[in-house]
Amino acid sequence: MTAQAETTRVQGPSGFIELNGQMLVVDYGKIYLDGSPVGFLFEDGMLKDTSGPFGSTSGLKPIDEIPGCIFRGIDATGLELELPGAVPGPTGTMKYNGVPLTVVMGRVSTQDHRLVGSFDDEGNLFLRDTVKRAPRRKLDETTQLTTIFQGTKSSGAPWNHEFVRPLYKKDKPYSDNEILRYFENFDGLTAAQKRYVIESLKLWASCGLLQIVRKSEGTAALGNVKHGAAGATGVRTGYVTLDREEFEKEIGYAKRFGMLATVATTIKPYYEVRLNLVVAHEYGHQLEFILSQATQDRIADLFGQRLSRSERLFPLPQAYEGTSELLPQEKIFERVFISGYARQSKFEYWAECVAAFSVKESREALKRIDPEIHEILRELVLSPDKMVRAVFVDTIADLQASLRVGNEFSDDLLDS
Ligand SMILES: [Zn+2]
Repeated sequence: MTAQAETTRVQGPSGFIELNGQMLVVDYGKIYLDGSPVGFLFEDGMLKDTSGPFGSTSGLKPIDEIPGCIFRGIDATGLELELPGAVPGPTGTMKYNGVPLTVVMGRVSTQDHRLVGSFDDEGNLFLRDTVKRAPRRKLDETTQLTTIFQGTKSSGAPWNHEFVRPLYKKDKPYSDNEILRYFENFDGLTAAQKRYVIESLKLWASCGLLQIVRKSEGTAALGNVKHGAAGATGVRTGYVTLDREEFEKEIGYAKRFGMLATVATTIKPYYEVRLNLVVAHEYGHQLEFILSQATQDRIADLFGQRLSRSERLFPLPQAYEGTSELLPQEKIFERVFISGYARQSKFEYWAECVAAFSVKESREALKRIDPEIHEILRELVLSPDKMVRAVFVDTIADLQASLRVGNEFSDDLLDS
């Protein structure tokens, strides 16, 4: 969310307050009685600087403390809002994926009074998704992040409640935990290897797609891959095996030459662009399995167009037996494919583009060289519910709403 959008949100809701037969107008939070200001209402139900029928107070008080007071209208984003809301719930403090939230009579809000959802006496959490316009998403074990609540139930009885995701480490944020769950024996890696794996997968963990892939396709592990390949993705199982030796070599290359490197070939004067992102590449093959047919068709179309263009502009040298795009050094910036290997097939094209998109340095290069595939990937991260198979749509929409509240995911994720 941009700073400006943030300001708009805290401006407060618009609508009407009904109080003892009187109707008061609320305009972006400002409350008027017969044209005179009598206080401010935040969308989380907190009143500020009230006078007149609300009683005089300079501090904050919840709308629940004024008997018979009901607000009906919309929040600053236009989403329907009713306060105090239907069910009275607990009051206290909450940590959601480590993010501090306030709970007042079941309404959950940020420190700056943005209403993020509701919480009931049974520990159920419902989120208000202003981005996808859904006022009440019920979270479950798959979509709820680690939640720690301290306070009282609606009855006033003291209540501490904790939800920790299965097999998660409580002290680590969601994205770190997801990478740990995805990459087997992560704890056994060296510090440099861990950094490389985290850098490769952070984006995919933060937007929720790594979890979807992990649960539907499988995990990744180091092992031995035959015929000298750096990695392989099982066709039937979807599990990734990364060749340990190649993995180590690749990290060395990435450190020395960067994620995107131009290397001389044995055929003079040809060069090949290489992406040193094997973990993200193999993940890319898994990611393809969860895409809708329509998305897969778009990718296949793009590949077909690019292959024809590459054949026309950069025909493979006669002596070359491979299928990568090769170019004279001075033509590197005019290349058709992000990397030489992406020319091999529509599958490798996709995997290489996913890999390039995973880190900022090569994501910017991808945007310049292949803006259309960059756009597909951007849509996939920001609106996956429109790009994945129907079976994953609800889960990823709920999960992304949850990740927004947990500060893992926001629309500017791709800017950093
Ligand atoms: Zn591949």
